[in-house]
Amino acid sequence: MTAFIIISIIIVLALGYLAFRLFGKKKNNIPAAATAGLNSELKQLLEQHVDYYHKLSETEKLRFEGLIAGFLEKVHIEGVGLEITDLDRVLIASSAIIPIFGYKEWRYTNLTNVILYPDTFNNDFQFEGEQEGRNIMGMVGSGYMNGQMLLSRAALLKGFSAASGKNNTGIHEFVHLLDKSDGATDGVPENILPHEYATPWLKMMHQEISLIKKGNSDIDPYGATNEAEFLAVASEYFFEKPDQFRQKHPELYEQLSIIYSQDPAGNHKAL
Ligand SMILES: [Zn+2]
Repeated sequence: MTAFIIISIIIVLALGYLAFRLFGKKKNNIPAAATAGLNSELKQLLEQHVDYYHKLSETEKLRFEGLIAGFLEKVHIEGVGLEITDLDRVLIASSAIIPIFGYKEWRYTNLTNVILYPDTFNNDFQFEGEQEGRNIMGMVGSGYMNGQMLLSRAALLKGFSAASGKNNTGIHEFVHLLDKSDGATDGVPENILPHEYATPWLKMMHQEISLIKKGNSDIDPYGATNEAEFLAVASEYFFEKPDQFRQKHPELYEQLSIIYSQDPAGNHKAL
């Protein structure tokens, strides 16, 4: 009888412990920021400065906010010669989330830090004075700089301002990061582009690059540098001026819609 009681107590304790572990683990798996969402100040900044967010439905806005919160929780943002503001954080995170918003499960695994400079910088990351070549607005680190992204605050802010037109430096750099996630920054983001689309996409890029070189395209000439820059520059245009892009480049628009699983000129919902 005593043995029965002891065994019963052990079983009850074991079950209790198991329940505690399961419950505890479940709770720990959800990052605090993702459950709490964004505070009202950050939401207001999104509403005021991020046109893309502004056009989303209420449900999609909530999903966007959750992704922003998750990004800010995971990625460290630091300033060089400046103090990071809430607006910096919101715009950096928006640049990251906009290109991957069509993919519910996508997370950047190749990024730990974003380093913000006051303005453009050069290849030695110098941003003051009159150094040669101080014209870089953003950069995705490679080699010893892997996992780092460098951005100019002036370029970041301009990208989300009404005056930016088709350009958005933040989105440009995150498209490079997305492109790089398959191992090669080559304009073909294999992680998200279905295999059968890779060849037609390359062909389409080459056609448009030659039009840019002849001066017969309204896509920023920097896009003619190579395939990776073409993808980044065309994507800025796709997200910043979707209606204009769809009208002037229907085939490219369709391909980028497939790549990003989004239709920003249409109902703006993830496809
Ligand atoms: Zn670039």
